[in-house]
Amino acid sequence: MYAVLFDIDGTLLQSGGAGHVAFAETFREAFHLTKFPEGVAFAGRSDRAIAQEIMLRAGIEPSLANWQRFHADYCGRLDNVLSACEGAVLPGVLELLDRLEEDSHTALGLLTGNTNFGAQAKTTAYGLAGRFLFGGYGDQRADRDDIAADARRAAKEFIAAEDNEPSLCGVMVIGDTPADIRCGRAIDAFVVAVATGGSSRDELAACQPDLLLEDLTDTEALLAEVSAAERRCLELATQP
Ligand SMILES: [Mg+2]
Repeated sequence: MYAVLFDIDGTLLQSGGAGHVAFAETFREAFHLTKFPEGVAFAGRSDRAIAQEIMLRAGIEPSLANWQRFHADYCGRLDNVLSACEGAVLPGVLELLDRLEEDSHTALGLLTGNTNFGAQAKTTAYGLAGRFLFGGYGDQRADRDDIAADARRAAKEFIAAEDNEPSLCGVMVIGDTPADIRCGRAIDAFVVAVATGGSSRDELAACQPDLLLEDLTDTEALLAEVSAAERRCLELATQP
């Protein structure tokens, strides 16, 4: 069984800045932070790492208790912020998910810096609920490479629990930032970079993904790799 792991923001959808707005509102309401620090990078990072950086810059102790306080408030306001911000599912995503879901040898999951709650809220808001069966999330982890390891483990456990399915034999990671490419490398995945998020084609190319796409409308090369990986899996499974 092959696993395809999707990043969310800039890869599956563009939330119209909802993450940034929800972070700023949460820090204002729950921590009375009147001036949100400028220049905090969001793309490719975990929510935990972003929150830690903001706390440090604002003189708030980046403790577990403060993270929990942040997260509780953030979860409470995310749905409203998502519906107020104008975003969209990115081109080609629905067609690609349809194609991959038809394939019984491939399972789809998430590899995202969003918390589990945030990932479910965002995918649900954009009509993608139920399309991803497992994932690695930015709740407990600050480092994206650790999230990737969680996602791989979750894929393995999901597939092991399925009847009649051989074990996980390969992983593809699809993301829009250099951090997605790096974390895909960290788990020996085939890495697809897509230039629909915050990183330019040149920035992504410099990180040497296995495949670099303008967007997810032309996915023949991606689907060819999924098929080739499945054939390799089958050969491995039938070897004496
Ligand atoms: Mg992204």
